[in-house]
Amino acid sequence: MNKMVFKINEQKCRGCRRCEAACSWTTSGMTNPRLAGIKIFKSEEEGRDYPVINQTCYQDFCGKAHPKEKGNNVPLCVTTCLFGAITLEGEVI
Ligand code: SF4
Ligand code: SF4
Repeated sequence: MNKMVFKINEQKCRGCRRCEAACSWTTSGMTNPRLAGIKIFKSEEEGRDYPVINQTCYQDFCGKAHPKEKGNNVPLCVTTCLFGAITLEGEVI
């Protein structure tokens, strides 16, 4: 069975943090970035933002908060990123 793999393209990340807000709201009902399964790390030196995802968070949080519904299994962090910095490879499990 294929596994879902997040692909991060940090060059496309604009540091807007919509993904953090969407994730924490979905999984906890609060917009608290500390509760998000995705974190945006800012490198002042490089002038770049780096999204980092806990690779088990979909199963642990997102998938439990919103159990599989037909055709709606794509994690919120992917759908809320307007810049294509987070994409999926493989099957959403
Ligand atoms: S990954 Fe996308 S939604 Fe998250 S901070 Fe970067 S540009 Fe914004
Ligand atoms: S898969 Fe779900 S729990 Fe994990 S970072 Fe994305 S929105 Fe958050």
